[in-house]
Amino acid sequence: MKILVLNCGSSSLKYQLIDMDGEVVLSKGLCERIGIDGRLEHSGKADYRADIVMDNHTDAIRCVLDVLLDKARGVINSLDEIGAVGHRVVHGGEFFSSSVIITPEVKKAIEECIELAPLHNPPNLLGIKSCEILMPNVPQVAVFDTAFHQTMPLEAYLYAISYELYKKYKIRKYGFHGTSHKYVAQRAAALLGMPIESLKIITCHLGNGASLCAVKNGASADTSMGFTPLEGLAMGTRSGNIDPAIVAYWMEKENLSVKDVINKLNKESGVLGVSGVSSDFRDIEAAKKAGNQQAAFALSVFHYRVAKTVGEYCAAMNGCDAIVFTAGLGENSASSRAAICGYLGYLGVRIDSDKNAIRGKEIDFSTGDASCRALVIPTNEELMIARETRELVN
Ligand code: AMP
Repeated sequence: MKILVLNCGSSSLKYQLIDMDGEVVLSKGLCERIGIDGRLEHSGKADYRADIVMDNHTDAIRCVLDVLLDKARGVINSLDEIGAVGHRVVHGGEFFSSSVIITPEVKKAIEECIELAPLHNPPNLLGIKSCEILMPNVPQVAVFDTAFHQTMPLEAYLYAISYELYKKYKIRKYGFHGTSHKYVAQRAAALLGMPIESLKIITCHLGNGASLCAVKNGASADTSMGFTPLEGLAMGTRSGNIDPAIVAYWMEKENLSVKDVINKLNKESGVLGVSGVSSDFRDIEAAKKAGNQQAAFALSVFHYRVAKTVGEYCAAMNGCDAIVFTAGLGENSASSRAAICGYLGYLGVRIDSDKNAIRGKEIDFSTGDASCRALVIPTNEELMIARETRELVN
C-alpha cells in the first residue's frame, strides 16, 4: 500500500509518498508560499522545482498530486494507487489518545482544538478538507502530536493553578513532538533488543523546538512542553520555562503588551536570545569556538536544562535504562551530546567518544560498562504517520 503523508503549515505543506511494502520513500517535497505566490520543490523519479500559483491548500495539494502523476517526474500512474492519506495534526486536546480515521466527528473535534493551537490546527484541517475534495474515496487518518502524551498521569499534566481553569478551559499540560518521541522510543527498544513494556527511556528531541519525554513501559509519563510548545527546555528561539512574573515586569519596564512579550518569548528568546548570535546551533557552536562568550552561555544553559530535566524524569520513573537523542541537534551534534551526558555519570551513563562521533545512523554510543545506555536514533515522523495510517486503514 502507498501512503501519502501530509504536514500542512500555514503557508507550507510537506509531503512524502511511502510504499509500505518495504517502507520505501517514493517521493517527497515541499510547497511553500501558499497564499502568497507558490513554489514547489519535489523529488521523485526526477527532481523538480517550479514557481506555481497556489492560492490555498487545495491548490497546493492539487499541485502535489499532479507532480506525483507526472510521467517524467512522478512515481504513480493513477490516484487509485494512493491507499490512504496520513495527516499530521498538531493538537488533539483531550479528545484523542491515538491516531484515528477521519470522520465528520473527528473534524469537529480538531476544530474545537483550534483555540489550543490557533496557528497549527487550521492549516491541518484545511489539508484534510482539501484531500476530501481532491481524493473523495481515499481514507484519511489524523496523527496527533499530542496523542502520545495523553497517558501522562494527573500529577504530571495538572498545573498548580485553580482547578476550575482546567475544568472550564482545559488548561493543562498536553505536550508535543509525540510522534517523534514514540517513534524513537520504539526504535530504541528494538536496538536494545528489549520489549518496550519493560523499559524506562528518556527521549530527547533536540531541534529548533526541543522537548524531553519520560517513556515508561512504552507510554508517555511526562514531557517538557506544556499547554503550548513554549514550556520546558530552552530552544532555538523559545525561552522555555521562566518565572511567569517576568512577563508583567518586562511589560512594565519596556512598555510592551502581553502579546508583545509572548511573541518575544516565542521568537526572540532561547539560545538566540542568550547568544545574540543565531537560533541555529551550528552558528552558536561556531561562535563559541571563535571565543564568543554569550554563545558559550547559551549552550551551557541549553545543556544544563536538558540534563536537569533528565534528572526530573529519572525521579518520575524511578530510574532510566536509556537516554535517546534525536532531531537536528540531538542527531548531529556530538559535542552537545557529550556535554549533556557529562552531567549524567550518576545514572551510569558512560559514552564512547568514537561511537559518539558517528553520524547519520542509529547507534548505542555507550561503553560496555554503562548501566544506562545513550543512543542516537534519527527521528522519522513521516514513517510513523504512515505506519499508524496503514494500521488503521487495514
Ligand atoms: P530540527 O528542528 O530537528 O530540523 O533541527 C534544527 C536544529 O538542528 C538547528 O538549530 C541546527 O543548527 C541543528 N543542527 C543540525 N545539524 C547540526 C550539526 N551538525 N551540529 C549542530 N547542530 C546541528
